Amino acid sequence: MRVYDSLVDLMGNTPLVRLHKVTAGVPAQVVAKVEYFNPGGSVKDRIAARMIEAAEASGELRPGGVIVEPTSGNTGVGLAIVAQQKGYRCLFVVPDKVAQDKISVLRAYGAEVVVCPTAVSPDHPDSYYSVSDRLAREVPNAWKPNQYTNVNNPDSHYHSTGPEIWEQTDGRVTHFVAGIGTGGTISGTGRYLKEVSGGRVQIIGADPEGSVYSGGSGRPYLVEGVGEDIWPATYDTKICDEVIAVTDKESFNMTRRLAREEGLLVGGSCGMAVVAALRVAATAAPDDMIVVLLPDGGRGYLSKIFNDDWMADYGFLTTSSEEGLVGDVL
Ligand code: PMP
Repeated sequence: MRVYDSLVDLMGNTPLVRLHKVTAGVPAQVVAKVEYFNPGGSVKDRIAARMIEAAEASGELRPGGVIVEPTSGNTGVGLAIVAQQKGYRCLFVVPDKVAQDKISVLRAYGAEVVVCPTAVSPDHPDSYYSVSDRLAREVPNAWKPNQYTNVNNPDSHYHSTGPEIWEQTDGRVTHFVAGIGTGGTISGTGRYLKEVSGGRVQIIGADPEGSVYSGGSGRPYLVEGVGEDIWPATYDTKICDEVIAVTDKESFNMTRRLAREEGLLVGGSCGMAVVAALRVAATAAPDDMIVVLLPDGGRGYLSKIFNDDWMADYGFLTTSSEEGLVGDVL
């Protein structure tokens, strides 16, 4: 029988899919590692599973334990699924600017969500940093994964994403491109691919213009899940051969093209990574194989990236009717 005992067993082992249309005229092959195939819909399932397993092994997370983390997005979903399957409670702390839909998703999985005011300084007792620290201290049996410092975040990619890409390409991968948020994906996958190839595989980070990884100071950008204004411990500052800055406009227009032209309904950081991958591919050799990681699906972005009015309000819609979702009906 081909029956999985738990959804947790289905985390990882995501497919590689060749891009065809957005790569027109590009000499090298570009293939996407499509992380929305994970049960929680994103790459973050991988780190959730490994952070929890490691905390169980070290005794930090005990039966009846409570997972406390400031997260509103993909990491929360991954943690909620793994926690539920293993019988832990989840207590997530989110700022009140987070969309109600995201909070509803976390609650749907059975997580408890504490909403904190955004309009206070980080050291205020009601800020979401302070509240999550206090809950982690005061709730009995609490454990805080802290994806920004937890070595099991990059390690999960060293042990899963990296080996998968090497095996799926029969060792022919020449470049790996991924966005940088906590840096876990690029640092862990990059370390594995560098080691196994004797340093041959080039590691390229994609970063929203203005973020620290590409030399900015943390200027606000709208693409979600990537870019930072601080340097987290989970990012290996020596791993990237190059970091490419991509604007919101480029990221979101490519995200829309991925849905329309490649059938890939994915999030904005995916469009960003593909823009960077195409820049790499433009100067690559014909037999080079560029693997670009697409972290999540696009359903969570329908009212933003896939909404013409939202795009137009920010000046992101290109004038060509080809790029609009409704402009080309006739
Ligand atoms: N894209 C999205 C949508 C994400 O949620 C994340 C995780 N923050 C990333 C990209 C970046 O991954 P990492 O944290 O491993 O650098």
